[in-house]
Amino acid sequence: NEEAEIQEQAEKIFVSVRLRPLNDKERARNNISDWECINNDTIVFNNSLPERAMFPAAYTFDRVFDYDCPTSQVYEEGAKDIALSVLTASIFAYGQTSSGKTYTMRGITDYAVADIYDYIERHQEREFLVKFSALEIYNEAVRDLLVSDSTPLRLLDDPERGTVVEKLTEETVRDKEHLQELLAICEAQRQIGETALNETSSRSHQILRLTIESSAIAYAGVGNSNLLAASVNFVDLAGSERASQTLSDGARLKEGCHINRSLLTLGTVIRKLSKGKNSHVPYRDSKLTRILQNALGGNARTAIICTMSPDRSHVEQSRNTLSFACCAK
Ligand code: ADP
Ligand code: MG
Repeated sequence: NEEAEIQEQAEKIFVSVRLRPLNDKERARNNISDWECINNDTIVFNNSLPERAMFPAAYTFDRVFDYDCPTSQVYEEGAKDIALSVLTASIFAYGQTSSGKTYTMRGITDYAVADIYDYIERHQEREFLVKFSALEIYNEAVRDLLVSDSTPLRLLDDPERGTVVEKLTEETVRDKEHLQELLAICEAQRQIGETALNETSSRSHQILRLTIESSAIAYAGVGNSNLLAASVNFVDLAGSERASQTLSDGARLKEGCHINRSLLTLGTVIRKLSKGKNSHVPYRDSKLTRILQNALGGNARTAIICTMSPDRSHVEQSRNTLSFACCAK
């Protein structure tokens, strides 16, 4: 029936893969990319390499972006429709450390902000209220990225709004410039966190959330009818090696917490959603999936951009990323 079909479409996740260029060091060592993008939607292991036989013939997704694609194109074709839908949306970057998640999400966020403000300026007949919040999840502890020295925040279950983060700053955004300032604060906070923990690879997830409420300007006697609300989440995930490192790696295991619960649970949730809605979806098993429950599945729209390194030293992780991307489809 029609309703089920709509539901099914809503739960379909737009999955793309973005290959970054070789960096200077990698090019000096090994001047050929492991991967080749073909036909805009398919990626294959490089045909000219002898290891070719060990890989599936081809991996096909909604879209693949080759190493020379600018972020503007990744945004246009891999995120824009979803970011600007009038519902709840989330855009994820998934991939190993150094594959280009942060690079991609920064660009995507900037393009989406520009489009949202462009829309607001073109709709003078409406009133808009834009709010912004930002958090980081590190070892299942939630931190506010808009305050310095944030203490861990608790999650609460609100009967109407679902899971909410207690005491999370929600800033009312005055204009585009104000939003740029807020984004810069988050960036600085995230860097301070990583430096304090002496992290070179990222174990934390970052969620930036924009909420846009709009209503027809109230004239005398006419209330704020037809209130529209949209929210979009920009999610820069922890390095996916945190979900895939094998348990046989004893030395790493002693370090503890190298398996990232939120990332593992996100993988399970996405696999369940993409398979259909008959099975139990374990949103409640991690902080990340609890916070994003309303932005995943149901009426929400989701895009995942899987970022990949072209370098030989990363081939195992690239293969894991492609397997994840296949499961999400
Ligand atoms: P991650 O967040 O996945 O750890 P980064 O986004 O920090 O990775 O990217 C690692 C490095 O590669 C950075 O120096 C970044 O500027 C560069 N980089 C990533 N993607 C691209 C790209 N598509 N084009 C050019 N440089 C890129
Ligand atoms: Mg990063």
